[in-house]
Amino acid sequence: MSISDVMAAYDAIRQKNEEELQRRRREVFAAVPRLAELDKELTSRLVASLKDALDGKSTDTAAIQALVDESRALLVQAGYDANYLDPIYTCPDCRDTGTRDDAQRCACFKRRLLEDKLAEARLTDNDVSFEKFNLSLFSDEPIENGKSQRDMMRRIRQICETWANNFPGGTPILLLAGSAGLGKTYVSKCIMRRVIERGYTAAYYTAYRLFSLFHSDRMGESVDLTPLFEVPLLIIDDLGTEPMTRNVTIEYFFDLLNERYVAGLHTVIVTNLSFLELKQLYGDRIHSRLMDVRYSQKIIFKGRDVRIHMT
Ligand SMILES: [Zn+2]
Repeated sequence: MSISDVMAAYDAIRQKNEEELQRRRREVFAAVPRLAELDKELTSRLVASLKDALDGKSTDTAAIQALVDESRALLVQAGYDANYLDPIYTCPDCRDTGTRDDAQRCACFKRRLLEDKLAEARLTDNDVSFEKFNLSLFSDEPIENGKSQRDMMRRIRQICETWANNFPGGTPILLLAGSAGLGKTYVSKCIMRRVIERGYTAAYYTAYRLFSLFHSDRMGESVDLTPLFEVPLLIIDDLGTEPMTRNVTIEYFFDLLNERYVAGLHTVIVTNLSFLELKQLYGDRIHSRLMDVRYSQKIIFKGRDVRIHMT
């Protein structure tokens, strides 16, 4: 999605509203023929007043106002709103142009651009955000050093929200680890939403999809890996669930992490694997990169599977 796509969306809105207005006019003029006459007269008066203005003459505005008042009264009499035949604007602030009268971008333009970016990142679920993050889903029974799962999630939310708010200032890698069903994917999407809301581009890939692309590229198929090496924030979800073709895809994965680091880009990695399993599956080089505190901030999720409560 680009700015021109957003502008095309405004064209579509204006056209739809214009069609609706024409439909209303047909409906009302058929029901109250006098309104059609008034409309005709009003139009010719307005054209004349425009000509007067060009000729430097003054216009009889009282006569125009009288026609408007009579139309509105008739509309109300016939059971319509007084403004039923006024131009229709989805956003009155910019009259569906995206730009306000003071030449500033309208709030609706910014919202639309953001919604398009979120949709592109497949983040259409409004419940996925730090604002909607529901701590009460997590148990408040103490499980470790007197801390409950809810305490730990509160802390995780704080760390991850800070990382997203400081983006791209934090560590190059954020590693979210822990068993399935503890909310890791949810948190990674909250991060992504916040980063996109702050104006950056982000992309979400499951490890399965990512490694399939690597595999296809390796097989000489035409795939475009460039976005992976260029997007400011890349989320890799479910690392460890992809089918493993040893060495081949691991090389790609290391290159990806390394190139992104060199380019100053950030990566969030979500995995159910333990650190030992990460080492066994991906080898020393990737493991040590993920464990190095200069590159990577590790966040461990603990506690009970909350997905049963979420459905
Ligand atoms: Zn607007």
